[in-house]
Amino acid sequence: MITREEIVEILKGVTHPETGKNLIEDGIAQSVEFTDEGKIVLTLSFRRKRDPFARSVATRAKLAIEAAAEGADVEVVVKEGEDAPKPRQHEGTKDIKHIVAIASGKGGVGKSTVTANIAVELSKLGYKVGVLDADIYGPSQPKLFGVEDYAPWAEKVDGLDYIVPAESSGIKINSIGFYIGASDALVWRGPMATNALKQLINQTLWGVLDFLLIDLPPGTGDVQISLTEALSIDGALIVSTPQQVATADVVRGMKMFMAEGINIPILGVVENMAWFSPAELPNNRYYIFGRGGARIMAENEGVDFLGEIPIIQAIAENSDSGTPVALDQNEAEPYYAAICRKVVEKLTK
Ligand code: ADP
Repeated sequence: MITREEIVEILKGVTHPETGKNLIEDGIAQSVEFTDEGKIVLTLSFRRKRDPFARSVATRAKLAIEAAAEGADVEVVVKEGEDAPKPRQHEGTKDIKHIVAIASGKGGVGKSTVTANIAVELSKLGYKVGVLDADIYGPSQPKLFGVEDYAPWAEKVDGLDYIVPAESSGIKINSIGFYIGASDALVWRGPMATNALKQLINQTLWGVLDFLLIDLPPGTGDVQISLTEALSIDGALIVSTPQQVATADVVRGMKMFMAEGINIPILGVVENMAWFSPAELPNNRYYIFGRGGARIMAENEGVDFLGEIPIIQAIAENSDSGTPVALDQNEAEPYYAAICRKVVEKLTK
């Protein structure tokens, strides 16, 4: 009776015509079984869905075994494509409960500041939070969290390299800004940026997270669309100032999320820089950029309005000093807390 070891030796003599590698070396021979009925079942697994040589390779393997073991009853099972072992993939997001994208129609409306402060509020509620800064045009999360000097390093998990994110106030942070120079983003083309960002999201060692917030690049280009298609995002938060131009861009942005095939729910709209109250006249509100534009736009589009944030000096100052304003009790904090509660309500109810 022929042994398993002898069959392995025989299969080393059978090559795949295209690769020139033998069936053991190429990993095509998956298993050999001896059934109770005295049959030898050899399973061959081809990576491609339709390997043109699958049949001839299987026949040659069968004949080679039969030639060595006279009278043997050999059956060859051929698997192609789906049944073949897939290359192992990075699964950095597998333990993340909710992924939320923060988007805006244009830059400079406070999208990154809102992202950082909502992250802080979520963390204060006891949730485990991560922030992925995907804003290739102006990655600002490292500065907002005071981790600009962080040099990412890798850690091996199950034989695959993962990026260890920075950490600030218990929040895990990875940013495209750790990897590119300030002027690099301009030369990036759509697919290149998208691939780098996808890799960044999947290869980060996020661990167990309740929320991952993604600070998206502003606008509705290819990069935004492919990212929203590629990731399973649970909802999008839209940031706008009250200005007419900002809101027109925002409508385009929302349509992108709502488009067929993408179908990402809009959690709601946040109006940033809604008004200004001078310290000496705290009850006076000056609507510098117009009044209520984002709220009206949300109503028109049939999406929820989640709240307003006025212009507050401490917000800008704290952003510059690397400690998001919501970490402390101050005039600005309650605005972010209120918006955060609504986000949680929508995602966890
Ligand atoms: P974006 O991510 O949309 O480009 P940022 O979050 O970087 O915008 O904000 C742009 C600038 O506005 C930053 O200097 C930030 O500190 C400031 N800023 C954002 N929101 C407010 C606010 N509510 N009050 C005062 N300054 C703000």
